[in-house]
Amino acid sequence: MTTEVVWSRLGVATSWPARPSANVARRRSRTDDHPRRPVTSTTSTPTTGSPAARRARAIEAARGVVESHPPTTTPRREFLEACFDAGLAWVHFPEGLGGLGAEPGVQAAVDEILQGAGGPIPFWLNPMGYGMAAPTVLHHGSAELSERLLRPLYVCDELWCQLFSEPGAGSDLAGLATRAEKVGDEWVVSGQKVWTSSAHLARWALLLARTDPDQPKHRGLTYFVLDMHAPGVEVRPLRQMTGEAEFNEVHLTEARIPDSHRLGEVGEGWRVAMTTLMNERSAIGGGSSVRGSGSIGSALRLWRARPDLHTPELRARLVELFARADAARLTGDRFRVEQGDRPAGAEGSIGKLTGAELNQEVYEFCLDLLGPDAALYSGYGPDGPDAEAAEDYGRLFLRSRANTIEGGTSEVLRNILGERLLGLPGDVRVDTGKPWRDVPRG
Ligand SMILES: Cc1cc2nc3c(=O)[nH]c(=O)nc-3n(C[C@H](O)[C@H](O)[C@H](O)COP(=O)(O)OP(=O)(O)OC[C@H]3O[C@@H](n4cnc5c(N)ncnc54)[C@H](O)[C@@H]3O)c2cc1C
Repeated sequence: MTTEVVWSRLGVATSWPARPSANVARRRSRTDDHPRRPVTSTTSTPTTGSPAARRARAIEAARGVVESHPPTTTPRREFLEACFDAGLAWVHFPEGLGGLGAEPGVQAAVDEILQGAGGPIPFWLNPMGYGMAAPTVLHHGSAELSERLLRPLYVCDELWCQLFSEPGAGSDLAGLATRAEKVGDEWVVSGQKVWTSSAHLARWALLLARTDPDQPKHRGLTYFVLDMHAPGVEVRPLRQMTGEAEFNEVHLTEARIPDSHRLGEVGEGWRVAMTTLMNERSAIGGGSSVRGSGSIGSALRLWRARPDLHTPELRARLVELFARADAARLTGDRFRVEQGDRPAGAEGSIGKLTGAELNQEVYEFCLDLLGPDAALYSGYGPDGPDAEAAEDYGRLFLRSRANTIEGGTSEVLRNILGERLLGLPGDVRVDTGKPWRDVPRG
């Protein structure tokens, strides 16, 4: 599979996180290849100059990278390295760690230049890494950990996964049962996780585990970075209705984690997890700054390719979907600008909620346009679609059904928006204040 096809599979055919390229993941970790720029600060607070000056500097840097490393002809890793070194990976991160100390809203303008020139959307190359692990490690890990992990994450030498959900803890994540116990300078972890996307490809995992069962459920958790290659980590694939095995069960049997890989204080795991989850929803729902990209771009290509199937009713539906997709894109851009240097909050759930439902409607439209032809897709199997089948609408339709579950179900997101943004009465909670070990579990 060529790089271009991988990019189109990951970055254009769907506006949702897709399975990262196995080629990327199979490549051995090349951390030692990474020349480092000096880190000037370990906070993401804007550094010198005015916001306008920082914005101008970032835009100039993006134009410079596109000129020196044209994304359509430069090998992907080289292009990503150039972006990281120019501080364009996450513009609000500190210099030397993939950022320029600019306001987060500047990222939209930078992405428009990089992606407008044909560059990849980094989120889709390493979704758990780019959108979730990076901000969590930066905000809650040591400076050494950020220096060690961020560059290989961004250039996709090291993929990430998220070990949160368990058979008995999905929406009720704080009820999780995986145990971590301190032994000397290490933590010993045992338990089972499930639905872990990309665990079979990942080098590192974000892990939430219970360290004190006598505390109420939200208070007895601690957050770690787990080496997926460590002894005691076993990954078993789960097959989806698309035929692929994008996610897994992960069994942890006395896996060991050095205390230096703890993010945040002991017992503060829930607070750290909020950084991950709010960034996850903002990242998934944030979409692309490029008009007509993502799933709606995919639908437009299909529409142009099949004039024989046009009807006035389908045309009206496509126009409405396009208007909604563009409104969502502009809302995402506005959200990023208004966010300033505030951490991601509950507002990020708006884009995730509306984007998931829109994505499903877009692929329903594609299926209605194609009719029975949509059932004939060629990539039904564990390795997913082949290169020619990058825009397999039957597969994309089936995959989009997961969008309203992954990263928080739509029902749970409506609860969050109702409670935190609209001030509506809270959900019923019967276990508040009870020690976790006394809460009945299924
Ligand atoms: C494609 C995909 C990828 C995923 N990747 C990962 C991953 O990488 N890492 C990871 O940790 N997890 C992952 N997940 C798991 C995902 O986060 C959970 O599936 C999700 O949080 C829901 O949990 P659950 O499946 O246990 O459903 P449950 O929590 O059992 O929910 C069942 C139903 O009840 C509803 N419900 C539950 N509580 C409430 C409530 N309070 N109010 C109203 N309705 C409610 C839900 O909306 C849902 O419809 C993934 C899931 C999918 C589908």
